[in-house]
Amino acid sequence: MVDTLRGRGITDETVLTAMGLVPRHFFLENAFEAHAYEDKPFPIGHEQTISQPYTVAYQSVLLDIKSNDKVLEIGTGSGYQAAILAALGARVYTVERQEALYVNAKNLLVEMGFHTVYCFFRDGSMGLREYAPYQKIIVTAGVPIVPNPLKQQLAVGGILVIPVGGAVQEMLRIRRLSETEFQEERFDRFRFVPFLEGLNKVGE
Ligand code: SAH
Repeated sequence: MVDTLRGRGITDETVLTAMGLVPRHFFLENAFEAHAYEDKPFPIGHEQTISQPYTVAYQSVLLDIKSNDKVLEIGTGSGYQAAILAALGARVYTVERQEALYVNAKNLLVEMGFHTVYCFFRDGSMGLREYAPYQKIIVTAGVPIVPNPLKQQLAVGGILVIPVGGAVQEMLRIRRLSETEFQEERFDRFRFVPFLEGLNKVGE
């Protein structure tokens, strides 16, 4: 898998090492385990998917994680991206709006020994104010527009990586330069599952 990522142009050795360390097959349903190291997304239930390794690597590179960064992730899903961020040395606050996925990811990450990942069952459109500010924020679902609370919860000097658009999204990197100034850069196009508002509880 790491060779495939290299072949697709990922050159950040720190990210490649982290991706080589975290076993992706733990994050997949049994039916797909044999394919865990292919560069493909897979269903994880509730109409959601685990992002493909290339996308996880791409967002991780843009985030430029430093050891001990406090990172907010919106869209825990399987927990795989959160595990990669933790392997890069981050303290990860990750938010999921599907209760069943939240419960699975939370249990799995504890079992796997990821003690620096904290899971929350929330609608991420408001961010997670009680632990703000964050050095880095990553959104792993496609948003039509950048939610303002996420920009406000960035530390000055912090980075937000977020896919913005409709069915196809453009990857944006937004840097907070000061209390009031933000700088925006645009990168490649991706197809994420949509960012949705509200909560989905088990049994409803
Ligand atoms: N990072 C995940 C990718 C999961 S797909 C992984 O590594 O597996 C995106 C996830 O975002 C889905 O689980 C979806 O339920 C969640 N999501 C969508 N809108 C959300 C919102 N407003 N708040 C929190 N999570 C959201």
